[in-house]
Amino acid sequence: MKIKIKTKNCKDPDSCLKCLEVCIPGVFLRVSKKKFKTDFESQIKINEMSHKISVRFIDSCTLCMNCVIICPENAITIKK
Ligand code: SF4
Ligand code: SF4
Repeated sequence: MKIKIKTKNCKDPDSCLKCLEVCIPGVFLRVSKKKFKTDFESQIKINEMSHKISVRFIDSCTLCMNCVIICPENAITIKK
């Protein structure tokens, strides 16, 4: 079984979190993701923190498909 989250579809993992809410076994985690961008005026690298949804406990998945149904961005696919 494979659970995939398209991060480019999941645009706002800080406020959506619907997949975490519906997943009773707690397969997903919201994790930190460090981003680096350069401020072109000062040429200083700015360290930004953002988040993404990560599949962490796949063995607990009951294949209820609630996360796939509720995701407003069609970001989650599950292959049995
Ligand atoms: S299919 Fe159900 S148990 Fe599996 S990750 Fe999605 S919500 Fe959780
Ligand atoms: S439900 Fe979909 S869009 Fe919302 S946080 Fe989860 S993966 Fe991202």
